[in-house]
Amino acid sequence: MSERESTVKVVTNEHSRDVLAKAKRIVVKVGTSTLTYDTGRLNLRRIESIVKQLADLANQGKEIILVSSGAVGAGLAPLGFKEKPKDLVMKQAAASVGQGVLLHMYEKLFREYGHTVGQILLTREDSMNRSRYINLRNTLYALISLGVIPIINENDVVSIDEVKIGDNDTLSAVIASTVEADLLIILSDIEGLYTANPQTNPDAELIHEVDVITPHIYEIAGGAGTSRGTGGMYTKIQAANIAVNSGVHMVIASGERNDSIEVIAVGGLRGTHFVARDSKPHMKKRWVAFGKRLKGSVTVDKGCADALLKKGSSLLPVGITAVSGEFHEGETISILFNDEEIARGMVNFSSADLDQIKGCNSHEITSILKIDSAHTEVIHRDNLVILR
Ligand code: GLU
Repeated sequence: MSERESTVKVVTNEHSRDVLAKAKRIVVKVGTSTLTYDTGRLNLRRIESIVKQLADLANQGKEIILVSSGAVGAGLAPLGFKEKPKDLVMKQAAASVGQGVLLHMYEKLFREYGHTVGQILLTREDSMNRSRYINLRNTLYALISLGVIPIINENDVVSIDEVKIGDNDTLSAVIASTVEADLLIILSDIEGLYTANPQTNPDAELIHEVDVITPHIYEIAGGAGTSRGTGGMYTKIQAANIAVNSGVHMVIASGERNDSIEVIAVGGLRGTHFVARDSKPHMKKRWVAFGKRLKGSVTVDKGCADALLKKGSSLLPVGITAVSGEFHEGETISILFNDEEIARGMVNFSSADLDQIKGCNSHEITSILKIDSAHTEVIHRDNLVILR
């Protein structure tokens, strides 16, 4: 077994789940397939069981945030649509109708169980822009302090590609990172992450615990470039990457079972647990790495990777071997070593300038770029997040 594969534990260490039972602030994400039938109508039995479990956790003193999809799905039946419209504006119209239907149902059910909800609709711009990000965080904290359960979705009515988060797996992880949640539970139509595709491989086993998100984990989740659509396992691994590197534990479990949330919240064995890193990067670093949009990447050599990972250094031009994508100063890029993303950070140079100074010493930057003064680091340590 290769070193990478050995990081996948099929047999769980049940003690690692004890930490989940202590989680106080919990973000739960539910997908459209969990909330609606193929007919385009709401699965009321399931919604009711989710609301009841969440209300019960809130009664125990836990702080709950719900990220719910289903706006487009719930808008289909009232508009007489048989399937999700392909046309963007029709999809947005469906989301406008469906978000109301959904919220009405949540509000009614949570009220019956004695809880107040607040709606938040977001686009990528709300996390990319620093002051909006801080506003969002403050509002979430205010709602939590008031004992309100925030219910969050992408603002599909105004979302177009440029401003879209795109999938609620990522949205829920960004929210969990923003509010420093202890635990993110993603409910899906599958039990968790398997060692292979369970539909085609009878030997596929459920992985109970993932300590490190290696490229192998992405591979078994569908491989880069495939199943990136909403609801795929790949987006869930990307979400796990955001969560664990923000110090948040994450569990993917089946939303088809009526007790997944309460079982996970007492540390019971359900789904796949992605173990959080011990350290939690500062709020500004979490925003740089996960709130903003990735605009490109640089590849580094071994000496540079070691300096970043082991010595806590800044990224200098000398260790950069390749630059990819088009980006400007101040944008967020990935740092790659051996095809693996090892860090993310806010870059001090454009991709065009980096192409010229890659592999050079810092004192050569001004003469190569023909400028009077320049940063000596490509990414300063204070704007850099190491991903394990
Ligand atoms: N925001 C979309 C909706 O509510 C769903 C996105 C997703 O499921 O990831 O319909």
